[in-house]
Amino acid sequence: MSDASPLALAQRLIACPSVTPAMGSVFDEMESMLTPLGFEVLRTVDGAAPDGPVENLLATRKGPQGSRHFAFAGHLDVVPPGEGWASDAFEPEIRGDLLYGRGAVDMKGSIACMVAALADIPAEAGTITFIITGDEEGPARHGTLALMDHMAVRGIVPDLCLVGEPTSVNRLGDMMKIGRRGSVNIFLGVDGVQGHVAYPHLADNPAPKLVAMLAELDALVLDEGTDWFQPSNLEITEIMIGNPAHNVIPAKAEARISIRFNDLHSGASLSEKVVKIAESHGGWARPVISGEPFLTEPGEFSDMLADAIRAETGVEPELSTSGGTSDARFLKNVCPVIEFGLNNATMHKRDEAVAVADLDVLTRIYARVAKAALA
Ligand SMILES: [Zn+2]
Repeated sequence: MSDASPLALAQRLIACPSVTPAMGSVFDEMESMLTPLGFEVLRTVDGAAPDGPVENLLATRKGPQGSRHFAFAGHLDVVPPGEGWASDAFEPEIRGDLLYGRGAVDMKGSIACMVAALADIPAEAGTITFIITGDEEGPARHGTLALMDHMAVRGIVPDLCLVGEPTSVNRLGDMMKIGRRGSVNIFLGVDGVQGHVAYPHLADNPAPKLVAMLAELDALVLDEGTDWFQPSNLEITEIMIGNPAHNVIPAKAEARISIRFNDLHSGASLSEKVVKIAESHGGWARPVISGEPFLTEPGEFSDMLADAIRAETGVEPELSTSGGTSDARFLKNVCPVIEFGLNNATMHKRDEAVAVADLDVLTRIYARVAKAALA
């Protein structure tokens, strides 16, 4: 097994503990893989407490003047291992056909495949950039966003970007993500006047107002979905009054809702709508937008990826917008972005594992896509 095999590279990355935010050794490994391949590697530490500092890596290998520019994006941080692993989460171990270790699929395995794919992509083919953050699984305020600032300063503008999140479901190649829904969490409340239940004219009960507000919000039909997205949905996730007494009208009533929304909305447009409804019931709303939706319309890029997947696996990939948010929600502001990677069955679980054979297949898919994108 040569040292540049995706398996060997994945083992090197998994062996560096990198619970989010990732710092230090895992980036040393990444740099030592890319530098000998002709990449100019920039390592930065971005942000400050409470959501930083965060380590990031931006690496570019310039192709000939005027050539196309393709980017691989991903994260080297991982979620905590949790309890009950059969082997140490940060000591990669092969058992049977599988390589075990935290990050095997999400997403050190995919990053190893991106690096291994370079063996098949000559420098003359075009410019390649790696956009690698140490904070995707955490608050992600100083991760890919900071990398995008560093890119802007240096004039690094890829034509297309592939994010290596684990998108495959039952077998490698069966799903890519061409978009993701956005997410906004909203705190709601009504302030009243506390008093005796027997003397309601001396009090102002916030509970019925909150109930009416929530009923109106729950009845909203945000949309019917689009060609590529399921309908947006609003869920009531908490209702809080916390009143232990039978004979006291409470002083305040609060709730939380969470909205997952498609590209017919923005976080701001939904926040404004909810604030208006809350205020019409004498209450207040405090929205926290955690991600905007993105959609890369099916076309040239998704075709390239589907062709590569079909050629290497025989599988016809589904184009999906399901699942939670990812760094693609930021990168869509730079260029068209699609997510494709390993099987996600064990991501974030104990005994996270990747099929060793899948690493070779994904490496060949990534090489095909990059070459098609640079052509
Ligand atoms: Zn991930």
